[in-house]
Amino acid sequence: MIHRHDFLIIGTGIAGLSYALKAARHGTVAIITKKEKAESNTNLAQGGVAAVMSAVDSFDLHVRDTLATGMGLSHTDAVEVMVREGPERLRELIDVGVRFTQKNGMLDLGREGGHSTNRIVHASDLTGREIERALLQAVAENPSITTFENHIAVELITEHHTAEKRVIDRSNIHCWGAYALDSVGRRVDTFTARVVMLSTGGLGNVYLHTTNPGIATGDGVAMAHRAGALIANMEFIQFHPTTLFNSGSPSFLISEAVRGFGAVLKARNGEEFMQLYDERRALAPRDIVAYAIDTELKKRGDDFVLLDLRHLPADGVREHFPHIYETCLNRFKLDITREPVPVVPAAHYSCGGVVTDIDGRTSLRGLYASGEVSMTGVHGANRLASNSLLEALVFSDRAARASALYLREQSSPIPAVREWDDSGTFNSEEWILILHNRREIQQIMWDYVGIVRSDLRLERAWRRMDLIRREVESFYKKTKVTEGLLELRNIALCAELIIRCAMKRKESRGLHVTTDYRQRDDTHFLRDTLLDD
Ligand SMILES: Cc1cc2nc3c(=O)[nH]c(=O)nc-3n(C[C@H](O)[C@H](O)[C@H](O)COP(=O)(O)OP(=O)(O)OC[C@H]3O[C@@H](n4cnc5c(N)ncnc54)[C@H](O)[C@@H]3O)c2cc1C
Repeated sequence: MIHRHDFLIIGTGIAGLSYALKAARHGTVAIITKKEKAESNTNLAQGGVAAVMSAVDSFDLHVRDTLATGMGLSHTDAVEVMVREGPERLRELIDVGVRFTQKNGMLDLGREGGHSTNRIVHASDLTGREIERALLQAVAENPSITTFENHIAVELITEHHTAEKRVIDRSNIHCWGAYALDSVGRRVDTFTARVVMLSTGGLGNVYLHTTNPGIATGDGVAMAHRAGALIANMEFIQFHPTTLFNSGSPSFLISEAVRGFGAVLKARNGEEFMQLYDERRALAPRDIVAYAIDTELKKRGDDFVLLDLRHLPADGVREHFPHIYETCLNRFKLDITREPVPVVPAAHYSCGGVVTDIDGRTSLRGLYASGEVSMTGVHGANRLASNSLLEALVFSDRAARASALYLREQSSPIPAVREWDDSGTFNSEEWILILHNRREIQQIMWDYVGIVRSDLRLERAWRRMDLIRREVESFYKKTKVTEGLLELRNIALCAELIIRCAMKRKESRGLHVTTDYRQRDDTHFLRDTLLDD
């Protein structure tokens, strides 16, 4: 089946939905989303959106904080754009119906690590859910937008997929849509559009432990890379230091505020260890705590460390952290006021991705990207807390304007596109192969390409991943596509891209820490890690 629209949007998180509302002013819009509409990283965001919304704050301060966190790699133009346009985008969200928490008739601005003043706009501690709710409602009410749930994009349509199989000139590739597996109807549909917005979110599921929901399998990065788009900075993966061990997928977050309240980190045998890493101990910044825990786990061969709250007044714990207390008690049968909490860091956010300019354009004509899938240049080597929702809002808006203009300029029709052809493939019952490979990749990435890397670990990971990826590709070519197989293929490719970038960066900077090159090296590495093949 062929679906024809002016705009095709892949993903229903903040990036895709906010873009859709603006694109719909210029043409017909199809949004495809992998599962149900609300399944996204956006839906889980707790803290909020960083923006300059008070008289005591300033654009310069927010820019400075963002650049400092990015450790020399953030693009100043992208940061300036995000910070200066942020407040306007936030007001638009309020107009759409998002109810942010207020205090005395004003927005209640929270504070997070790395911000020099209060600037986190939030909806209690469920900010993402509130944003997602309001955006989904506005999209549902818009007659120009059609949403297709349970449609997982398989491949971007480029010259390669035209009826006459045009020769690909790598410097001038066009994107005209995507193939998508209708996982309920069990067929692959063709979606054509002059403009494609890639807003598929992150890739936390490349790792064994992640705070990301199951949808975050790096599909956008993998599809864009296969189509020939420029990818960058995949080595910069942010890990959240404390998530509940074995809490399933996604890992359940134990907020940093728990450490702020006095909880102490200990090894399994009860020894404290944070004093070896930072004089602030458990109150050290996120990266340092994640690094310390990871080092202790590797040194001791343990699977988790303990976060001990037993010395704290039980009433105070229950009062300050009702959600964490009740979830641990009811879902995990763990009374955190009486038992130490087993915790482990988990992959949280990908700073790298599909390279865009400050108008969301990728290196493929007609393909735009926004949100976690993109590399706008804002985050550099590390992400400042709560800048990601803001980044998505600002660059989706700019991409909407740029892509509307692009649409208007196009005069020739989209070339005839071949429909999905899976003749010669078979239905495999080998679910176990997919599951096993997925697990193996996640374990390899966790053990060798996690918080602390080394040449030896990266080489080991590379050899193993190379083998697995070849196996997966060969299996993919013979088999009718399923959601599990598509995700496995994308996870495998993203893992390889992360390793390739990590191997290129022979220094330690921001989220990329390697024991072989412990220092930051501005002479050779004050630049993005680009993958253009
Ligand atoms: C637990 C948690 C807490 C966070 N807290 C904050 C916070 O307080 N502040 C902040 O700024 N950031 C926070 N973040 C990060 C932030 O939530 C994300 O970076 C942001 O929501 C990404 O938005 P997005 O639109 O790019 O992607 P997402 O919201 O993840 O949406 C991606 C969409 O793409 C769809 N999709 C993926 N692949 C395909 C495919 N192949 N075909 C079709 N559809 C596909 C998914 O189903 C989903 O609808 C948090 C993240 C997590 C996990």
